[in-house]
Amino acid sequence: MKFKDRVALVTGGGRGIGAATAEVFAREGAKVVVSDMDEAPAREVAQPIGGLAIACDVTRRESVEALVERTVKELGRIDVLVTCAGIIRDNLLFKMTDDDWDAVIDTHLKGTFNCARAAQKHMVEQKYGKMVFLSSTSALGNRGQTNYSTAKAGLQGMARTLAIELGPFGINVNAVAPGFVETRMTRQTAERMGVDYETFKMGAASQIPVRRVGQPVDIANVITFLCSDEASFVSGQTVYVRGGP
Ligand code: NDP
Repeated sequence: MKFKDRVALVTGGGRGIGAATAEVFAREGAKVVVSDMDEAPAREVAQPIGGLAIACDVTRRESVEALVERTVKELGRIDVLVTCAGIIRDNLLFKMTDDDWDAVIDTHLKGTFNCARAAQKHMVEQKYGKMVFLSSTSALGNRGQTNYSTAKAGLQGMARTLAIELGPFGINVNAVAPGFVETRMTRQTAERMGVDYETFKMGAASQIPVRRVGQPVDIANVITFLCSDEASFVSGQTVYVRGGP
């Protein structure tokens, strides 16, 4: 029960990595707010774990502020923020539209900025907080992902900067950078490339030193460790979780 009496808010919690993270938090005793663009997937995850489902579009400041205010109003505080809300709009640069760029930058970078800014207000007051931002191995460069790679690299800088700004208030801020994880997102990539998903996964696994692709819980376990008091001397770091270096 590492998170007994703690309140954890997970954006993008209705699916994939966010859903697995919400489940691990709940198992370890946290009260969890599962937030997603639509309430239905958030509710599906929240219900079995006794969590609270709240719809929120992270790109909209008012929506995020309302999410954080409701969390604090209903659950009393906010101890943990994990930002998993994400999209991909892959294309080679010459085909990438303004919309592809804006949608991805807005969701990952602006979305995380909105959430971090709204959450810090309460975390600073209570002199306690943990934030984890979802980066990606794509931050190191990935063909067809100028928008996504830029956003994911930016989130590492955001984590480092906020670790410096918020550390004196008892707040740890880190990033987790997953490699290939079996979720709807990687399924969408396979579809776009016209490759069967099983074949796509096998190809990816053959390039990964541990010879398998990641599961959402592999990432959730690292996220929750970084949000635990056992990791209270870890801040401003990016942990790559990819079955290899
Ligand atoms: P999923 O697509 O399974 O889940 C992402 C969730 O984010 C969806 O429920 C989606 O809602 C939600 N979302 C999208 N836009 C918004 C928004 N504006 N406001 C609120 N919620 C939103 O993705 P994953 O679980 O795979 O990814 C989670 C995070 O991990 C992402 O940041 C991703 O970039 C990152 N990541 C994933 C990797 C992977 O291999 N899967 C690898 C590296 C990083 P909706 O269904 O309505 O679109």
